[in-house]
Amino acid sequence: MTTPSEHPDWTTTGFSTRAIHAGQDPDATTGAVVPPIHQVSTYKQDGVGGLRGGYEYSRSANPTRTALEEALAAAESGGLPSTPDGSPAARGYAFASGLAAEDTLLRAVLRPGDHVIVPDDAYGGTYRLVARVFGPWGVEHTPVDLTDVDAVRAAVRPETKVVWVETPTNPLLGVSDVAALAGVAHEAGALLVVDNTFATPYLQQPLALGADVVVHSTTKYVGGHSDVVGGALVVATGAQLPGGLASPAGGTDVAGAVGFHQNASGAVAGPFDAWLTLRGLKTLAVRMDRHQANAAAVAEFLASHPAVTEVIYPGLATHPGHELAARQMRGFGGMVSFRVGSEAKALDVCARTQVFTLAESLGGVESLIEHPGRMTHGSVAGTALEVPDDLVRLSVGIEDVEDLVADLERALA
Ligand SMILES: *Cc1c(COP(=O)(O)O)cnc(C)c1O
Repeated sequence: MTTPSEHPDWTTTGFSTRAIHAGQDPDATTGAVVPPIHQVSTYKQDGVGGLRGGYEYSRSANPTRTALEEALAAAESGGLPSTPDGSPAARGYAFASGLAAEDTLLRAVLRPGDHVIVPDDAYGGTYRLVARVFGPWGVEHTPVDLTDVDAVRAAVRPETKVVWVETPTNPLLGVSDVAALAGVAHEAGALLVVDNTFATPYLQQPLALGADVVVHSTTKYVGGHSDVVGGALVVATGAQLPGGLASPAGGTDVAGAVGFHQNASGAVAGPFDAWLTLRGLKTLAVRMDRHQANAAAVAEFLASHPAVTEVIYPGLATHPGHELAARQMRGFGGMVSFRVGSEAKALDVCARTQVFTLAESLGGVESLIEHPGRMTHGSVAGTALEVPDDLVRLSVGIEDVEDLVADLERALA
């Protein structure tokens, strides 16, 4: 018999090696190479308080969820220096949905009277949460164009505790400078939070650019197969709560406060959802490579089509954020938006595709088409976040690109 070998330090390996292995050592008892679905609520104690591996009750911790949380933290930790005591540079927390993750984060770091800067084309659900759930609890917000760093600096108030960033944004694919915004937020004593759902940790690593917290709807590219709803937070280990705030659990670090609130509010990912998400994460890099190759071809086709008045894709040299995206990201992603001149024409295109499925959401292997004004962004109609009514959004899948282009050609004819 040979003794089992130690695994390498995953923080020193490449993205896919981390995504496939971190937190996912073969099962100690059976050697199963994939973490089992621990479909269980409670754990036998070896005498009162004698927990095995720290597991007590599955709201507090569950081994399948732990595997996902460690893998997500490792995936987002590229480029981060390891901590002096050898503890992880970031910690992951998995939730029942992206919005559950956002809700838990905002409860952990904000108090009544605080102020949040939000993107003026934020994900509609994020805006609704900030404006209509946290607003009545005394949290104020200002929508700002985050591509304008000076405008963000001008919107900062003494009460500003969070600068919330999406880049690229949904659905207008605006690109903002994470490192510059981190500078503005930290000068103001606020946290920089980046919703990295569109870019994914493969294409963009906000923590290495200075962000304190990364948010994911793992429902999208991380899960990647349109079969699970989930969310995650990845918190830089050193990040401190803004304004000298202390966590109800004691301590002043963001990670500790988020861990406390995850358990205290309980919007956790279930074991099967965590397992599906972990399975998706393993193939994220290969899927993203194909998503963005297909998206680039689709964007080029649309740019040459007479019925299309504007194509919005960060990979096009005509996109105002093209150079920044090229610097800040490993690639330009799989989302493409375009305009066709009128709402009636946009609705018509959405109704006529056959390979692109008319549906909300994004990031799955299958291509989707939608009308943001009437679908995903219906909840922000009449606000500063309203989107143009002739806009069509594509989540370009990993099918054969000739079929995707032919489908759009037919729908636009
Ligand atoms: C979908 C989405 C969310 C919300 O996530 P859910 O999993 O639907 O709760 C947040 N941010 C972005 C950018 C999204 O696309």
